[in-house]
Amino acid sequence: MNLRRKFDLGQNVYLIIQDRVTEPLICDLCHSEPLLLADGREIKCPQCGGYPGVKYLGREWRIDGMLAIGQIRFEVTTSDFKEQYMCYETGVGSGTVYNVGDLFATENEARIECAGRNKENAD
Ligand SMILES: [Zn+2]
Repeated sequence: MNLRRKFDLGQNVYLIIQDRVTEPLICDLCHSEPLLLADGREIKCPQCGGYPGVKYLGREWRIDGMLAIGQIRFEVTTSDFKEQYMCYETGVGSGTVYNVGDLFATENEARIECAGRNKENAD
C-alpha cells in the first residue's frame, strides 16, 4: 500500500475552522458604556449589569491561522481511510488532531475553501 500524503513534516499550513459569529448587543439604557455618577464613580447598569451580551448570527468558516506540521497520521481499515495531522503549535502526540480536509498549503486556497463552504451553508 502506498500512502500519499498532502503535507510534509515541518510544512506550514493554514487551518480553517467553523466558528460562531456573534454581534455585540447594545443596551438601550447604558448604550453599553460604563455609567458614571456625577462624582465620577462607576455604577453597574441596572438593566444589563454592564454586559448586554451578544446576538448569535450563525456559524461561519474562517481561517484560524498558520500551523506547522509536526506529525502525519494515517488510519486505514477496510472501510475507512483517514489522513490527519498534528501540529507543533497545538501539540504533537497529545493535542489537537486535524483532518486533511481542513488544512491548506496556501492562505489563498484556505480562503477559497472557506468561501465555498460558507456559500454551501447559506444555500
Ligand atoms: Zn446597560
